[in-house]
Parts: sequence; C-alpha cells; structure tokens
Amino acid sequence: MDRYLEGKTALVTGSVQGIGLAVAKALAGAGARIGVHGLADAEQVIRAEQEIKTAGAPETQFFDADLRDPAAIEAMMDALGEWGGPDILVNNAGIQQTASLADLTVEIWDWIIAVNLSAAFHTMRRALPAMSTRGYGRVINIASVHGLVASANKAPYVAAKFGLVGMSKVAALEYAAIGSRATGGVTVNCICPGWTETAIIEPQVAARATEQGGDREAGIASLLAEKQPSLRTSDPAEIGMLAAWLCHPRGHNITGTAIPVDGGWTAQ
Ligand code: NAD
Repeated sequence: MDRYLEGKTALVTGSVQGIGLAVAKALAGAGARIGVHGLADAEQVIRAEQEIKTAGAPETQFFDADLRDPAAIEAMMDALGEWGGPDILVNNAGIQQTASLADLTVEIWDWIIAVNLSAAFHTMRRALPAMSTRGYGRVINIASVHGLVASANKAPYVAAKFGLVGMSKVAALEYAAIGSRATGGVTVNCICPGWTETAIIEPQVAARATEQGGDREAGIASLLAEKQPSLRTSDPAEIGMLAAWLCHPRGHNITGTAIPVDGGWTAQ
C-alpha cells in the first residue's frame, strides 16, 4: 500500500465513530499519525484508537474538547501543536436537529452553529499558519449536501453548512499560492455527503420508518427516493477514501471545492 502520508499528523474531529472514524482509518492506511477526538467514554476512545492503529496509524493520541467551548478548542490546538500537528485537519464533528424555523429554540440554533461552523473557524485559525510554514497542509471540512442546497426543517444545519463551504473557499484563496507542486501546497476543500449510514441519520430514519409501518429498510428507501437518485446510501469508508485522496501531494491544485458524494442529489 502507498504510505504517502508517512510522517504527517492529522487531527480528525469527531473520529470516535461514523464518518470521522472512517476518515481517520483511511488516513491511517496511508501512514498518518492520527489525533483522535470526539465526545465519548473511555471504552469508545480505546476502541476507536485500536481500529485506527489496526488500519495503519503509527501513533494515535486522543484530544478531548467539547467543540461548543472555544477555550477548550484552544487548549486542544495547543496540545496538538506540542504533539507535532496538524499537517492535516479534518473538521468532521457535527450535530443535527430537525424542527421548523418557528419551533427552533435559541439554544439549538447556538449549539448547531457552534459545533458545525464556529469550531472549524477556531481550528483553522490555529492550524493554517503552521501548514503555511511547512508548505504542505490539508484542511478537509465535512460539510453536507446541505452546504449546497436546502431542505425544510433544517435551518441551523443548512446555515452552518453553507457557512462552512463559504469559509473554506475564503481560506482556500488565502493559502492558494503557498508551497509548491513538490511540497504539495496548502489546500482547503469541503466534502458534501448525502445520506450516509451513521448514527446522525438514525432519528430521521426512525421517524420515516414509523410512517412506513415500522420497517427500517422501507424508511431508508423512502428518504432516498425523495432526494438521492442513486437510491443507495453511502458507506462512511467511501467518504474516507475521498479524504485520503485529497491529502495526496498531487492534489495540490484541488482547492476551494465542495465535492458532493450524494448519488446525484445536487445534480437535480
Ligand atoms: P455521528 O453522529 O456518528 O458523529 C458525529 C461526531 O461528532 C461524533 O464523533 C461526536 O463525538 C462528535 N461531536 C458532536 N458534538 C460534539 C461536540 N460538542 N464536541 C465534540 N465533538 C462532538 O455522525 P456522522 O454522520 O459521522 O457525522 C460526521 C459529519 O458528517 C457531521 O459534520 C455531519 O453533519 C456530516 N454529514 C453526515 C451525513 C450523514 O448522512 N451521515 C450527511 C452529510 C453530512
């Protein structure tokens, strides 16, 4: 296997499960040291670190920060700097709540904006200058199809993800001329998944399954039929493959993009 990320250090937020864990494993497979992060108990952290090491990471370390708290993010970035990173920053942690705009509480708005948007500002602000000095850096922000198009009942989520796509384009422009083809440059991109099988979609799957007489598979089929023309969900590992590919030095000219992995959702 090509270990093109040997010697590189990656922080993947929310990497104790779901898409983040899959991205961490894909980067580990290419040889990166992985900073693991997320809200989890000790057992889940140990399990995630073991999986990431088995996937090929030479080293892992868990970084603890509630992303609603800017001071905790600062402390995490300090600790990460001491550990030697990051060359690669994947802002993946995210939350979702569905409610009509009129029914949303201020607390839910603030919570979703803090985790899905502001946290990425706090990590990028700290990570990009060091990437610039090294002439290599990758920021991959896990946005969503909801960073490109809207759906009803998701106002804060859609606002945060559109904001994440916009902020990523600004950062891409600010760092576009850094480094060289040989060093790999500093790039900033978003990945925009459609329906992907993780815990975050479970409440929506359960609600739709109830409408379909309690049949979970019928619930998923109904969600897909509404938005995702491939009629197939994505596996988190497929998002991981794309993230690892963006980290290759040959990806030096791929920057400022928002790449859908959505079975045609946003082609419509
Ligand atoms: P998930 O619920 O399995 O994972 C979310 C992760 O975020 C967890 O590791 C959790 O610990 C972390 N997290 C949540 N709140 C946090 C906080 N306050 N502080 C620190 N960490 C926190 O869901 P997932 O699908 O793996 O989500 C990963 C990303 O993918 C999210 O940004 C989500 O919006 C995005 N996404 C998912 C889908 C999908 O269909 N699964 C589609 C589009 C976008």
